[in-house]
Amino acid sequence: MSGAGAGRLLIDPAAVAANVARLRGPRRTPLMAVVKADGFGLGARALARAALAGGASRLATATVAEAYEVADLGVPVLAWLMSPDELADQRARLLGSSAIEVAVGSPEHLAAALGRCRPGADAVSRPLRIHLFADCGMSRDGCPDYDWATLCEQVREAERAGLVRCVGLMGHLACGEHVEEPCHRGGTATFDRAVEVAGAHGLRPGLRHLAATSAALGAPGTHHTLLRTGAGLVGIDPAGLGRLQPAARLEAPLAQVRRVPAGASVGYGHHHHIERDTWLGLLPLGYADGIPRSASSRAQVTVDGVRRDLLGLVSMDQCVVDLGERMVPAGTVATVFGPHGPSLAEWAAWSGLLEHEVLTGIGRRVRRLTQPVGATEQVA
Ligand SMILES: *Cc1c(COP(=O)(O)O)cnc(C)c1O
Repeated sequence: MSGAGAGRLLIDPAAVAANVARLRGPRRTPLMAVVKADGFGLGARALARAALAGGASRLATATVAEAYEVADLGVPVLAWLMSPDELADQRARLLGSSAIEVAVGSPEHLAAALGRCRPGADAVSRPLRIHLFADCGMSRDGCPDYDWATLCEQVREAERAGLVRCVGLMGHLACGEHVEEPCHRGGTATFDRAVEVAGAHGLRPGLRHLAATSAALGAPGTHHTLLRTGAGLVGIDPAGLGRLQPAARLEAPLAQVRRVPAGASVGYGHHHHIERDTWLGLLPLGYADGIPRSASSRAQVTVDGVRRDLLGLVSMDQCVVDLGERMVPAGTVATVFGPHGPSLAEWAAWSGLLEHEVLTGIGRRVRRLTQPVGATEQVA
């Protein structure tokens, strides 16, 4: 079923590489490329390869299953989102992987990482590599302040016993770019304190990572020893600070073209009435492919270099483009978003979604392709 439609979502590795360089900034802070949610919809392996070619030195994902997808690319992969049970279930497999590292954000996760919640778990053959994750004000993932010192102490003990190796300290900011706001200052202060407390317990790993895309671009003081960025790789710049390059393009050839007279109506419910004779093109992408229905009758696509309105309601599999006076043949490619077409930011505004939501929402019928300069080839 995957890739069964006519739509194509292309990733431009050169744009990803340029974004890696831009995110790393003048000090060239090392960068861990976050390729969660199937590489923000572009394909985890394609995004990972492009980021690594562009200078990223590590990878990260949310779930462990996602980490395995990119575990053979030759660099460490951090996964940070799992329950203690999942961690306990995965433990043996994780110990067998030389690439995967996991975040530990609670004493319960540590117990799972040590195999302590599974009576009779095998003695470990080598230490599991972990990153200690402090909650820096999100109240989401990461270890709450009240458990941090205990967690550090337990990790140090487990390190001495050769059961784990703490290779990193991490946090995540609720307000990455707003450097003057209490939300940002509170988060960075919490991380600094967490680093201090860890140090006092003898944990001084070389990796300290706090900054995701918005902080990487807007708050150089948060860079520490490693960036942990995802959205910025594909050109999404939440704070509008970054001069990033769009790395994604969604396109499809028009499936049909027809002439309609004034007075005709378009689509379900006849939401749009044609006022003047016009040409309509059928775009074979609908809300099942991730074209947000909420963008109906606001959105545009680019056909033959010209911006064209979508008319009527977006259907599940298709929507209708007003081609105006000019007949273009069926098969002409329409750019939904990307370079030389509308931007993801425009689609976000038209649909009331985040750019992240639009991109990660592109459906499975759309083929994922990688497009080096001058050529189009299938993603392996
Ligand atoms: C998603 C996520 C990131 C990456 O954030 P971007 O804004 O996409 O760069 C980093 N760390 C954590 C914990 C995340 O959830």
